[in-house]
Amino acid sequence: MLVMSKFCIFAPMSIKENLQHIRQKIQQACQASGRAAESVKLIAVSKTKSAEQIWKAYQAGQRLFGENYVQELLQKQAHPLLHHLEIEWHLIGHLQSNKAKHVVGKVAMIQTVDSVSLAQTLANYAAKRARCVPILLEVNISGENSKHGFKPDEVEEAAKNIFQLRNLELRGLMCIGSPQAPKAKAEFKAMKQLFERLKCLSPQPETFTELSMGMSGDFETAIAEGATIVRIGTAIFGER
Ligand SMILES: *Cc1c(COP(=O)(O)O)cnc(C)c1O
Repeated sequence: MLVMSKFCIFAPMSIKENLQHIRQKIQQACQASGRAAESVKLIAVSKTKSAEQIWKAYQAGQRLFGENYVQELLQKQAHPLLHHLEIEWHLIGHLQSNKAKHVVGKVAMIQTVDSVSLAQTLANYAAKRARCVPILLEVNISGENSKHGFKPDEVEEAAKNIFQLRNLELRGLMCIGSPQAPKAKAEFKAMKQLFERLKCLSPQPETFTELSMGMSGDFETAIAEGATIVRIGTAIFGER
């Protein structure tokens, strides 16, 4: 006779359960650092995941989604399961200038602007379409060659130029932390300082409000250091 205890059956958590769990962790991290739970937005990172999986997350109340690749993003937006939903899409992957025209007007925010020339290109398309595009500047805070983004000592000069561009709204900064926890913590701290310095330089400081940092492995640290947007994939949708 086969005896099975229900405690031994492996039951993978559903997307809905994962989301509930993550939201709870975000709330706890906010509480631990004396912040309001509403001060942190959760972006569900759905790269390589199917329209069905995104739909499930949407049914569980998730509205903000992040995609890395323009082609994949546009395909998902047009997917019959998703095109009518009120999803707020964020582009969180590297953007090549020649793809810029495809995303202007299609996403709520482009988080990965990493050069003044890309900002200018986006501003030109935005002007043609009478749009204002919210953007973040990506900072290569870890200094790894493999990563995109402005060097920390280049950001201020770039931001001064980009603040002047009409049709773009520079809303804040974004980074990817190092895999090593203590290093990531120091990087998030440095990002927060950089963020505060640029806020003082902004012609409209009340709109310079977003610090996008923290992923599945380090979002609690990022929240402790001041993240206002966390971008979480694996802990919601499973391994890629
Ligand atoms: C893939 C990705 C994430 C999500 O990473 P997880 O470790 O799966 O949570 C967040 N931000 C960016 C820029 C990514 O490319």
